[in-house]
Amino acid sequence: MLIQNPIPDATRSRGLETLADFLPRAGRAYAERRNFDLGPEDRDNVSTLSPFIRHRLVLESEVLAAVLERHSREAADKFVQEVFWRAYFKGWLEQHPSVWHDYRRDVNACIAALESDADACAAYDRAITGATGIDCFDAWTDELVRTGYLHNHARMWFASIWVFTLELPWQLGADFFLRHLLDGDPASNTLSWRWVAGLHTKGKTYLARVSNITSYTNDRFNPAGQLAATAAPLIEEARHDFVPLGAADSMAIDGDFGLLVTEEDCIGLPLDLPAEPKAVIGMSAPSLRSPLAIGQAAAAFAASAVQDGAARAGECAGREAEFLESSRWEDALLEFAGRHDLGAIVTAFAPVGPVAELLERAASRLAGEGIELRRVRRGYDERAWPHAGKGYFKLKSRIPELLDFLGA
Ligand SMILES: Cc1cc2nc3c(=O)[nH]c(=O)nc-3n(C[C@H](O)[C@H](O)[C@H](O)COP(=O)(O)OP(=O)(O)OC[C@H]3O[C@@H](n4cnc5c(N)ncnc54)[C@H](O)[C@@H]3O)c2cc1C
Repeated sequence: MLIQNPIPDATRSRGLETLADFLPRAGRAYAERRNFDLGPEDRDNVSTLSPFIRHRLVLESEVLAAVLERHSREAADKFVQEVFWRAYFKGWLEQHPSVWHDYRRDVNACIAALESDADACAAYDRAITGATGIDCFDAWTDELVRTGYLHNHARMWFASIWVFTLELPWQLGADFFLRHLLDGDPASNTLSWRWVAGLHTKGKTYLARVSNITSYTNDRFNPAGQLAATAAPLIEEARHDFVPLGAADSMAIDGDFGLLVTEEDCIGLPLDLPAEPKAVIGMSAPSLRSPLAIGQAAAAFAASAVQDGAARAGECAGREAEFLESSRWEDALLEFAGRHDLGAIVTAFAPVGPVAELLERAASRLAGEGIELRRVRRGYDERAWPHAGKGYFKLKSRIPELLDFLGA
């Protein structure tokens, strides 16, 4: 068992070590024990791989292949399903982007509303400083801010208490998570909060119950009499229409190109590139995850992951990688392309979220100067995302064929 530093190094090698350490426990042991939140000192029953997978320091396909080399598909079924939840949420948000845009608008509106409502502001402050008087909730707040991680069950309980007991806007809770989780991710986070609130699966909410918390924390907490007894689903007027997935950019490129590594994909290895990039740059902008300050640990993890990915991509290409933390990518990429005389910049496709927005702005600016920005989707996403329909079931039923495609 690795002794977990509260904040793991944001490197691929640390991600691979974490995976290797977890492998023996990824089969039946995971299926039986994964729902227990045994506290920050004991995470043996889960993988803690999410910060690495979220930033693609380690790919889902690698995790699945390693687990299935060690365990049968039947024994690892639960773990494999969990890994595919990320593809479900990413694929779903990609096809319903208005959910993200409305969420971003609402976070700003909720923050503005706090400024003119002293009671609401005080209630929000108590929640994010761990001063609500609900022991379990306050402990999870402390753990989240200190370590950047919460167990999945704790995330569900926390979100439920935030929405139904404290009656705070779900958008501010999702924003609080996104600011502090090392694995903070627009799709998994926004959609999980909406699921708890009864907005993702319309009318179906998640109510945190005292007996469930007591059992699955091994009696560490007992919030008897402190939690809401009912959870009426939230209702929204907005409709979120289905938007078909666009075609991915092709990799066929003539001429010199540069490689851009972002916090959405830090693997740093070629995306089936036709040749070696002439130059490599890593760019991160974690501050765009929220209008409020991002937790130091989450910001540092994202920036270091990009540095690690860019450095490895640079090594592969025999070039020294550059690195920039900035929220004005269009200027920086134009300067980068000009300095290296590039006709194109290639990057991994960024799913809906702040990085995709930065890339969109940069693409039109670069196009104005005759430089292409190619956003290349990985085969895993290309195959899995179209199955992210109304519920998880459709994607789940395709897991065997997706595993066959991966050769796992
Ligand atoms: C309210 C709420 C907010 C969440 N916000 C995020 C977030 O911002 N980023 C994030 O990565 N996950 C989020 N999750 C999902 C889940 O809690 C974490 O992925 C998981 O707890 C990570 O810990 P682990 O790696 O030890 O998981 P394990 O139990 O070891 O699971 C293995 C892997 O499966 C994937 N996985 C498991 N559950 C989910 C899930 N529900 N959605 C997507 N992937 C999953 C992760 O990549 C994880 O590393 C959220 C869940 C809830 C209820």
